Amino acid sequence: MRIHNLGFPRIGLNRELKFSLEQYWRADISAEELSQSCKILRAEHWQLQQQAGIELLPVGDFAHYDHVLNTSLYLGIVPARFQQHSLTNLDVEFNMARGQAPGSCGCAASDMTKWFDTNYHYIVPEFAEQLDIKVNISNLIEQIQEARAIQKDIKPVLLGPLSYLWLGTATGTNDDRLRLLPSLLEGYQQIFDELNQHNVNWLQLDEPILGLELNNAWLDAFKQAYQTLKKGNLKLLLTSYFASIEQQLALVATLPFNGVHLDILSETCNVDYAINTLPKHWVISLGVINGRNIWRTDLTALYQQLEPIYEKLAARLWLAPSCSLLHTPVDLDQEQQLDNELKSWLAFAKQKCQELALLKKALTTGELAEINAYSLPVKQRAHSLRINDQQVQSRQQQLQDEHRQRSLPFTQRKSLQASHLKLPLFPTTTIGSFPQTQSIRSIRSQWKRQELSDADYNQAIKKHIKDNIDKQLAIDLDVLVHGEPERNDMVEYFGELLSGIAVTQQAWVQSYGSRCVKPPIIFGDVSRPDVMTLDWIQYAQSLTSKPVKGMLTGPVTILCWSFVRDDLPLPLVAEQVALAISDEIDDLVANNINIIQVDEPAIREGMPLKQSQWQHYLEWATRAFRLSCATAPAQVQIHSHMCYSEFNDILQAIIDLDADVLTIETSRSNMAVLNAFDDIQYPNDLGPGVYDIHSPNIPNQQWIIDLLNKARQHIDDDRLWVNPDCGLKTRGWEETTIALDNMVKAAKTLRAAV
Ligand code: GLN
Ligand code: ZN
Repeated sequence: MRIHNLGFPRIGLNRELKFSLEQYWRADISAEELSQSCKILRAEHWQLQQQAGIELLPVGDFAHYDHVLNTSLYLGIVPARFQQHSLTNLDVEFNMARGQAPGSCGCAASDMTKWFDTNYHYIVPEFAEQLDIKVNISNLIEQIQEARAIQKDIKPVLLGPLSYLWLGTATGTNDDRLRLLPSLLEGYQQIFDELNQHNVNWLQLDEPILGLELNNAWLDAFKQAYQTLKKGNLKLLLTSYFASIEQQLALVATLPFNGVHLDILSETCNVDYAINTLPKHWVISLGVINGRNIWRTDLTALYQQLEPIYEKLAARLWLAPSCSLLHTPVDLDQEQQLDNELKSWLAFAKQKCQELALLKKALTTGELAEINAYSLPVKQRAHSLRINDQQVQSRQQQLQDEHRQRSLPFTQRKSLQASHLKLPLFPTTTIGSFPQTQSIRSIRSQWKRQELSDADYNQAIKKHIKDNIDKQLAIDLDVLVHGEPERNDMVEYFGELLSGIAVTQQAWVQSYGSRCVKPPIIFGDVSRPDVMTLDWIQYAQSLTSKPVKGMLTGPVTILCWSFVRDDLPLPLVAEQVALAISDEIDDLVANNINIIQVDEPAIREGMPLKQSQWQHYLEWATRAFRLSCATAPAQVQIHSHMCYSEFNDILQAIIDLDADVLTIETSRSNMAVLNAFDDIQYPNDLGPGVYDIHSPNIPNQQWIIDLLNKARQHIDDDRLWVNPDCGLKTRGWEETTIALDNMVKAAKTLRAAV
């Protein structure tokens, strides 16, 4: 039996990669220095895995920015706009990733989107009419040599041709990507040949799209691809994750692989069926340690499950995490502030590798003492008083359907709100955050380090809130916000204040490029011990007679961006979080806050891989959102916000949210998104973003008027809101002021004309 790993977090325990990248982007270090620090980081990660006992080290899982982008670079699939300049390979990489590099070409970055149902973003490959493949895997070969210097047995990781093709977009007139397969395969063939020349033994070929419900054209292409590729001496481990591929195993069994990796945790998996279906000489790698969360594994229970399988498969059985450990933080040992009990329930990437070694030892020796001792805290967790809150549970049991919806339908709410709020036509607002200046960040971190007293902190934050209100009044916006200066992150902030959720010090996970997040850990029944936002919002409201919008994060987004307990079904966890948010809404309402926004930017990414499971997910997700806002009286206006522009898959769900006002991202697509809203006849108020906050460009008044006039072709005037695409926390004040000023003037111009 062998234990291996599919990939290790690349950002580094102390986010070393982040800081090196950002130094290079600022031209504070040279390309050579960047490369040196990446090399050191890779070596550390291989040594860490080796010490834990991993027998095949993954190579090629490292990336400066993203592994899908790396695949494009291996194949030379670089959009023409980046090729017309004499740039180094490194600068091409960063120009593609972020539109900027020390050697900048001033070209727009490639698109970035979420990697399946995770919060990791990949750079979307762009395919021209013809693929002009130029293979260059010298970086990968170098890394193979680096890894071999540490351990003889290694396993390069490569995104497979079908998944790569699936994840990209065709930029020409013909968006049938499958027609590009033959030339893509020539590229993969060259990569295979080169790996053969370097005596690579096993190659891990990631084909996560096998977990989707592919149509026949793609399944045929799958067959065609792997029958065409000549593997030489390479042994191919077909690797899937995030979903079961049971439906495809019969097909897979006919193809020239040498083994298959199955994620047996994301969905139920019939391992016996897999063993019976796959050829008798293949390796079967089982993903038995969860690569998507941070819970310590009950190795005793796992042993019971695996023991008969090991009997059958013996050396053909490999064990691994369910997916790459990219989605977990590096090392639990570094967490100084989590208490010992909670820590004993957890395992990060390093600990997950150690779990595999413990498991292997038990299976091969039959000695159970060690894994029994290791698994004890998992069993204790189930009975811990900390995770069971009777009050929360009985409140949940008493929930009736009527608690899950507003008291009146939208049309009636709308007229009550109109007379209550007296907003003008085309009301203007923003999405919540205002520029997070250096001063704000240092106030927060001084307070965290206890260098600032609570009283001084409150005063300093309030000063920023007052500034924000003054600026908005000067610009003459209609619905104001407090600006979120107290929030580091829209999920972590609530994670810190809710019971049943813990936050970490160092548990960083890569979100995109150098951006990392510290997902909170939802370990027990969730409740809200005390008000979370009321003081700030109330203070902001005290400064003006215009309405100030309360600002909360919705239950689904809190779930999607946290590590969620694995001992309670997600819909029930979502319901608990929704009730906690609803308590906050009650307090806001009781204190005369008449507009409240509940952000749900993550609803879409939580969709399971298989389309047949979408409906179920969207039902419980929208139910949780509605529950969070249900107690708001009819005259209180509930807003929600989502920052993406692909709504086609979730249109019904968006209606089901039943938010009074929904603000969305549309400016980049020039309002094209609204076509989809026509088809479903979206009934409630809508604020299509008129200012792309992801770009440093400042929209002028006419530009905004034109966008609004486009929007008016889809939305009645009395349902149209005027706002930016998303929060403004990453922008500077100067540009923000000008842009918002133009936005308000544009709305006034339209008002005057109707
Ligand atoms: N209210 C949040 C903000 O403005 C929303 C952020 C988001 O949609 N991601 O920052
Ligand atoms: Zn947003």
